[in-house]
Amino acid sequence: MDAPAYRTFAVEVSRVQRLCPSFVRITFSGDDLVGFGACGADQRIKVVLPAPGTTAAHLVETCRGWGDDWYPHWLRAPEDSRPLLRTYTVRAARPSRGEVDVDFVLHGTGSAPGHGSGPASRWAAGARTGDRLVVVGPDRPGQGRAWGREWAPPPGGRLLLAGDETAVPAVCAVLEALEPEAALRTVALLEVPCPEDALQPVASGGAQVRWLPRRGPLGEAPHGSLLVGAVASLLAGQRPVALDRRDAQDDDVDLDLLWDVPEAVGSGDLYAWVAGEAGVVRDVRRLVKAAGLPKASLAAMGYWRAGRTEAA
Ligand SMILES: Cc1cc2nc3c(=O)[nH]c(=O)nc-3n(C[C@H](O)[C@H](O)[C@H](O)COP(=O)(O)OP(=O)(O)OC[C@H]3O[C@@H](n4cnc5c(N)ncnc54)[C@H](O)[C@@H]3O)c2cc1C
Repeated sequence: MDAPAYRTFAVEVSRVQRLCPSFVRITFSGDDLVGFGACGADQRIKVVLPAPGTTAAHLVETCRGWGDDWYPHWLRAPEDSRPLLRTYTVRAARPSRGEVDVDFVLHGTGSAPGHGSGPASRWAAGARTGDRLVVVGPDRPGQGRAWGREWAPPPGGRLLLAGDETAVPAVCAVLEALEPEAALRTVALLEVPCPEDALQPVASGGAQVRWLPRRGPLGEAPHGSLLVGAVASLLAGQRPVALDRRDAQDDDVDLDLLWDVPEAVGSGDLYAWVAGEAGVVRDVRRLVKAAGLPKASLAAMGYWRAGRTEAA
């Protein structure tokens, strides 16, 4: 019988590394993670946090029997003690050592409205070696379906990765896995809170990586403004072509549900992968669509929404 594609893993924090002002890398360890499906690229997982007023020990106990049937179990949990689910990216996985790294953005220190703090960011800011938690992630590679990955470029053509700080872990993981030939066709545009967040070195294998720090000598640029500007400049030379009617239609997207990914690998001169704050992703999506990019060549994902907590 196939192992479940996605299941719960009981983990313990084995390392906490402050990478730069806005990112902390947490290494999760556990014997159970030896069965973790290290799929690479933009592999997403759920970090499961204790409900307010409950403990990590209670969380681990609650999730113990959930296994691959975790979602119905989670839904059935009483609302006042239901664990919190937040989505994160696997920055690196070393299943043979039972280790998974996740890079958390420490948000909540900015001055822009809607950029609040949240339970996951707070948990990461205070994480200590030995803290226990639960993650929901993929089981052994090759078993079940490869869920939770969207990076699917066609062979050939230029590759564009664009995102804010929440997309940095996924973009770095993608860059590190690129074949050298593909790296030479790749541009990554990454907007981050401050210049010290330009994580170096990223093994980009020859890809062009442009960091866009919002904080500069003249003050702080609004979230997304540098990313949108950089994508606009990059596409300025792109000749607009007539859009398919279906491609042109859906600009009036519901920002809470902005997750627009191709169902199959497309083809063409340019493939774009865009992730970050949903309103910013919508604006970038408009730009790349206006440049004539068909739906099949664009993955646009709202990783978070200003002023809204993540709903499971
Ligand atoms: C597929 C996917 C992969 C992701 N990968 C990562 C990752 O690897 N690392 C990472 O840090 N994040 C990642 N995110 C984003 C992360 O899930 C959200 O930022 C999440 O809302 C954080 O949870 P929280 O409990 O801290 O805040 P929430 O309780 O969800 O939100 C509380 C408040 O904080 C605001 N907020 C949430 N995130 C941010 C932010 N980044 N900056 C400013 N304000 C914010 C919300 O608008 C809200 O007002 C990913 C999201 C998705 C969908």
